[in-house]
Amino acid sequence: MRRFRSLAAAAFFAPAVLPVTAQMARTKPVTDAEVASITRDAILIDTHDDITSKTVDGYDIATPNRRGQTDLARMKGFLGAEFFAVYVGAEYVNGNHSANRALQMIDTTRTDIIAAHPNDFVFATTADEIVAAHSQHKIAALMGIEGGHAIEDSLRLLRDYYVLGVRYMTLTHFNTNNWADSQGDFEDTKVKHHNGLTPFGKDVVREMNRLGMMVDISHTADKTFYDALEVSTAPIIASHSSCRAVSSHTRNMTDDMIRALAAKGGTMQINFDCAYLSQRYSDATKPIMAELRPRFQEPASAGVNVQAAAGYAGRRRCPDRPRSEGWRHRPCRHRHGLRRRGLRSRGA
Ligand SMILES: [Zn+2]
Repeated sequence: MRRFRSLAAAAFFAPAVLPVTAQMARTKPVTDAEVASITRDAILIDTHDDITSKTVDGYDIATPNRRGQTDLARMKGFLGAEFFAVYVGAEYVNGNHSANRALQMIDTTRTDIIAAHPNDFVFATTADEIVAAHSQHKIAALMGIEGGHAIEDSLRLLRDYYVLGVRYMTLTHFNTNNWADSQGDFEDTKVKHHNGLTPFGKDVVREMNRLGMMVDISHTADKTFYDALEVSTAPIIASHSSCRAVSSHTRNMTDDMIRALAAKGGTMQINFDCAYLSQRYSDATKPIMAELRPRFQEPASAGVNVQAAAGYAGRRRCPDRPRSEGWRHRPCRHRHGLRRRGLRSRGA
């Protein structure tokens, strides 16, 4: 079995690989036997799983999850390693609760997933530990922070997260923070932008390099991507980004970005959310995203935040969207969630 010297190298051998072009977007049935034969020799690594947003509210990952894409039964067998998302929504910026939320998300990964299922998961922070978990027929469980605002503008917190086991961080989420521009609000003139990374943002990248934490550019503005690529001395990753040539959503990477990432040894893992794979779906969801984006930082209520509700509404606008993500549509739940938040809007 191949030994990886770094996590970035390990991630490079993950299956969702670039480049993808529109002509390549054709279907080919893949059998379980084919998947099994590949995953016997190669370690399948998923670099972004948001199931932590459910486990933090009490969901047990061993329970069949008919509304989402992850549960233990579906992970077992093929999956070698999972990066669980330490997702910190933009709403936690208000009142400086981002670090509190990050610590809770770290705890749900370590307590509710890994410690609760010791026969299935093993905590990992290095490539060698991923390989060791694979040889024990367990899933290596790693963590990546989503949203650079989680460090509350402090390199000290960044170092604390590393000590707790975090091994990548997206420089932004959908919100621009105090040191990095996001693609999510770059057209919003009310947001203070920085033309990519500020000097402190570049220090964040350098400190991540020094620690050995992967720099993740998923969700960043294009200029932030190019700044991070220039500053970083280690290969950088896109843990969950797709191709703009396939769907022009700005969350996706242009061919030039993909080539630049690859030229410096980086890795891109494809996001299977429909908006990022289908131009038609992306177009259909644009109006509701634009309408609701100013409310993305509102506090979540009853487990539904405005951004998630907007996503649900977008799905309903495109009922014949691609089924790539295996999503089972549940219109009633989404509609109720939107009603509760007062988010019903035209056609939503
Ligand atoms: Zn994301």
